[in-house]
Amino acid sequence: METTSARVRQRTIPPVVAARWALWTFVIVNLVIVEALFLTEGTGKNGVLTVAKFFGLHAAVLMLFQLLLVARLPWLDRRIGMDRLTVWHRWVGFTLLWTLLTHAVLVVLGYARLDDAAMTKTFMALAGVPASLLGMGAAAIVVGVAAVSARQVRRRLRYETWHGVHLLLYVALGLAFVHQLRETTTFSSSAPAMTYWWALWLFAFGALVTGRIVMPLWRNAYHRFEVVAVVPEADDVVSVHVTGRHLDRLPARAGQFCIWRFPGHNHWWPANPFSLSAAPDGRTLRLTAKAVGSASTGLRHVPVGTRAFVEGPYGAFTSLHRTRPGALLIAGGVGITPVRALLEEESAGDIVVLYRVRSEDEAVLIDEVRALVAGRGGRLHLLTGRSGEGSPPFEPQSLRALVPDITERDVYVCGPPAMTSAVLGALRGLKVPRIQVHAERFGLA
Ligand SMILES: Cc1cc2nc3c(=O)[nH]c(=O)nc-3n(C[C@H](O)[C@H](O)[C@H](O)COP(=O)(O)OP(=O)(O)OC[C@H]3O[C@@H](n4cnc5c(N)ncnc54)[C@H](O)[C@@H]3O)c2cc1C
Repeated sequence: METTSARVRQRTIPPVVAARWALWTFVIVNLVIVEALFLTEGTGKNGVLTVAKFFGLHAAVLMLFQLLLVARLPWLDRRIGMDRLTVWHRWVGFTLLWTLLTHAVLVVLGYARLDDAAMTKTFMALAGVPASLLGMGAAAIVVGVAAVSARQVRRRLRYETWHGVHLLLYVALGLAFVHQLRETTTFSSSAPAMTYWWALWLFAFGALVTGRIVMPLWRNAYHRFEVVAVVPEADDVVSVHVTGRHLDRLPARAGQFCIWRFPGHNHWWPANPFSLSAAPDGRTLRLTAKAVGSASTGLRHVPVGTRAFVEGPYGAFTSLHRTRPGALLIAGGVGITPVRALLEEESAGDIVVLYRVRSEDEAVLIDEVRALVAGRGGRLHLLTGRSGEGSPPFEPQSLRALVPDITERDVYVCGPPAMTSAVLGALRGLKVPRIQVHAERFGLA
């Protein structure tokens, strides 16, 4: 087996940098083409309508980019991470909202000027034109989804409710697609422009359908995942072991997570992300979950033999991103799961684990962690206590006291959002280079 340090030596460009460059190059090249086409073909019936066209065109480009960000393309996901791609998706989403609204207002204003009519009258007249009505419908859905995605509203909604509303965006996408088919667009004027535009849409749709539908269906049909054991780890923590056919061909790595469903059992269509709590060995996958709501609590009662529907593996919290021979792994509470799996991949040597828990009895998988650290000649610090009690362990000076050569190591962090943010802040304070810092947050939306 190739060791982590051997992989570190071989690499020149960090994978995350390569992926960002690839993504930016794709965006910039397409923007240049779109701007060039707009400059040559984009004139509207008056100045305002020209600007409206500009915004409409860029709204379409943003939609295409959104599709790529949520397509869960393995190459991007493993390098950038689903959490970061989701954050970008959120920002692109809000940019799309404002671009669409600007487009809509300018279209009404432009036609009002053209017809020398009031804006309300023009709006009503446009609503009577099917192509415009489709565009209005798409814009209304985007506004609604943006409203439920605003932080204050999102916090109050159940994940499933928010997610259900979010799926309406696919309806918006369909409406916007037909809207632009029926309107004269910048691209209608020449065959090469048309070909380019449809190829771009086909590529983005193709990526989405492949990543979100074809690949998961194919993987589940091929591997036929099934629960082989359910092992209570503590009163509120359980491990579920899943097997399947040809699991050695599943491209899963320690540190990654899957989205799990146990259909037909206990109202279990909802999908929940859980990290692999052991490095994949080609025969079984293991998740370890803390009970926080109905899905995670119900895992304890899943019968052996239940079929599982597994999406993934996903995530960039892996040794693919190692840049240094030494590693510091920091876990808080159940955030130990991917860290426990990463430990298995480590070769003997320079490894330090900080495991933060309220009390030692709450330290999930602690015996396994102790054995793995000892087997690799590493160092484990079990940091017990509640936040606000005693001296905080994740202040820069405390971290440096525990791990004096911290800036020379890769640092992997996984824990509750507040702890993860505190650690990341401390690492910035200690000037640990960003490329050496790898975090997994147990929250995607
Ligand atoms: C990448 C990742 C890896 C994770 N790994 C682990 C792990 O190894 N062990 C563990 O105990 N927990 C893990 N979690 C957290 C776990 O997913 C949630 O605790 C679980 O989904 C809660 O579901 P519930 O129905 O029991 O509780 P609920 O009360 O329904 O949900 C509690 C909260 O969990 C989050 N959540 C629920 N469903 C989803 C979903 N489908 N996608 C994203 N967030 C959701 C929401 O923020 C929600 O408010 C991980 C989360 C993520 C994003």
